[in-house]
Amino acid sequence: MPGPDIKFCRLCGSPSDRRVPHGEDRERPVCRACGYVDYVNPTNVVGTVPVWGADGDHVLLCLRAIEPRKGFWTLPAGFLEVGETLAEGAARETREEAGARIELDGLFTVLDVVHARQVHVFYRARMLDDSLDPGPETAEARIVSLDEIPWDDLAFATVRWTLERYLEDRASGRFGVHTATIPPRIESS
Ligand SMILES: [Zn+2]
Repeated sequence: MPGPDIKFCRLCGSPSDRRVPHGEDRERPVCRACGYVDYVNPTNVVGTVPVWGADGDHVLLCLRAIEPRKGFWTLPAGFLEVGETLAEGAARETREEAGARIELDGLFTVLDVVHARQVHVFYRARMLDDSLDPGPETAEARIVSLDEIPWDDLAFATVRWTLERYLEDRASGRFGVHTATIPPRIESS
């Protein structure tokens, strides 16, 4: 897939052209003035499946206060920042979006979202208490029992897929690491 239509160099501000840099195999934005090649690579989205209750029979969900998918439920997740590990990013997003105190468990799902130029990574996490303090990106944070998950009102396919794996693994009593490729959303006309 082509990258975004970058028109100007991020270093010097001169116009960029899309062309194949020497020795490479695909078009990239290349600055006409300084020659800077603007590599656009997938971004990492990190999050958690924060669970609560005696044997993880409740999960923390956040109602999105911002686009995309405002008004739909999600697991706490967001973009990994430079300078932090995947696990640190997942814990930070959980604090920022829900105000939840958690202890991370293992890596849980790794999802290629090629059409969005993203890789999503979720960790399992145990909530240390049930106090919540949602941040500005979250309209409401709520701990729901697993049979109350609003499947029809989830924000993202990655969230649905991750919650499905959690229910399956919890039922089997063994948690693994799961990978998948998430296809583009089929738009109904
Ligand atoms: Zn330049």
